[in-house]
Amino acid sequence: MTLLAQFDVFGTPFSSKWELTARLLAQHPVQILWAAFLLLLCISACVGALAHRRFSKNKQTGQLAEPLVDELTMFRAVAASVPDFIYVKDTQSRFLLANRSTAEAMGAKSVSDLLGKTDLDFYPRELAEGFLADEQKVIRTGQPLVSRDEVTREIAGEMRYTLSTKVPLRDAAGEIIGIIGIGRDITALKHTETALKEAQEKLQFKASHDALTTLLNREAVLEMLERELARGDREKGSTTVVLLADVDYFKNINDAHGHQVGDEVLHAIADRLVGAVRVYDYVGRYGGEEFLVILAGCHEMEALTRADQIREAVTAAPIPTVQGPIAITISLGVLSVREWGPLVPEEILREVDNALYEAKRDGRNRCKLALPTVASRLQESATNAHS
Ligand code: GH3
Ligand code: MG
Ligand code: MG
Repeated sequence: MTLLAQFDVFGTPFSSKWELTARLLAQHPVQILWAAFLLLLCISACVGALAHRRFSKNKQTGQLAEPLVDELTMFRAVAASVPDFIYVKDTQSRFLLANRSTAEAMGAKSVSDLLGKTDLDFYPRELAEGFLADEQKVIRTGQPLVSRDEVTREIAGEMRYTLSTKVPLRDAAGEIIGIIGIGRDITALKHTETALKEAQEKLQFKASHDALTTLLNREAVLEMLERELARGDREKGSTTVVLLADVDYFKNINDAHGHQVGDEVLHAIADRLVGAVRVYDYVGRYGGEEFLVILAGCHEMEALTRADQIREAVTAAPIPTVQGPIAITISLGVLSVREWGPLVPEEILREVDNALYEAKRDGRNRCKLALPTVASRLQESATNAHS
């Protein structure tokens, strides 16, 4: 404004644009109105022409007559720069079009190196034939394959995973003339997924297993006992046998050889217990040097024999340790659920612990069967009669 104020058109200075306009209008009204009218006419003509070019449609195709941007150029730029695989194949699964990412992933020298070729020219036969079969199915049925996980290649011993979509390519008449494929390399995602799964499995294992012996921990083995009892109830008459094993004079081993050797011995006992039972039995670390064994589907007549076989298997040979072989014995309390009738886990554990105590009292290195007393049998039949 200071500049305008210094500019004197009419001999006297003016203070604003509006004052200048007012003075011009006052002096040349007709000329100025004509000039403004002509300027408006020009502007509207230009806008009209541009709008017509932009929005008028081709009568046959319904397409915009003249797009402002060259769509093909734009598509080419998109296909060239995206990391995803984009390609078009004919009905023989030969590449008609492909972007750079596709060529690189397939190990082709360039995009043009890919054209006219099939997966058989780049992948091992079995793998390529699998892809070809998928594509032929899309071509035959017209059904797209959407978001399929494909294991595409092994690079330096590593698998490459692709999330792949293949849809039919149709001509103007609707005839299928090939396929359009889009793929995304999800190898990194798969590795993360696998690492997460492994971490989850490790956590689950840690939560249910004992760190020293890798046996089921106390909570987990008790859960198995509950399951076994429930299964027995469902199948009308459980034939589950429960053993509680305790190492004899284990404190002496710790005292004589140290805690670490004691750990070694516990580990070996755990392995021997597992080796002595069938795959569908359960072994858990119940406490310090106590182990709970659940023999599923074991008849009561066999209970003591099976328990004694297990005791024999664990104690037959001395356990090799860093301080030389150490001979051990174990005592076991044995309970056959069928002989007791319906029992909750707490009752089973109490009774089998009493039997273990008796085995210890009777001289150790033996098995003792927990048998319901006459009194408890009478009480049980009274309870049954009431219910
Ligand atoms: P008994 O024949 O009456 O069973 O005698 P014992 O010496 O085995 O019985 P006691 O209960 O007196 O001793 C058990 C010992 O087990 C005491 C404890 O220090 C030891 N112990 C418990 N857990 C572990 C463990 O994880 N590692 C080692 N090395 N020792 C353990
Ligand atoms: Mg002991
Ligand atoms: Mg003990």
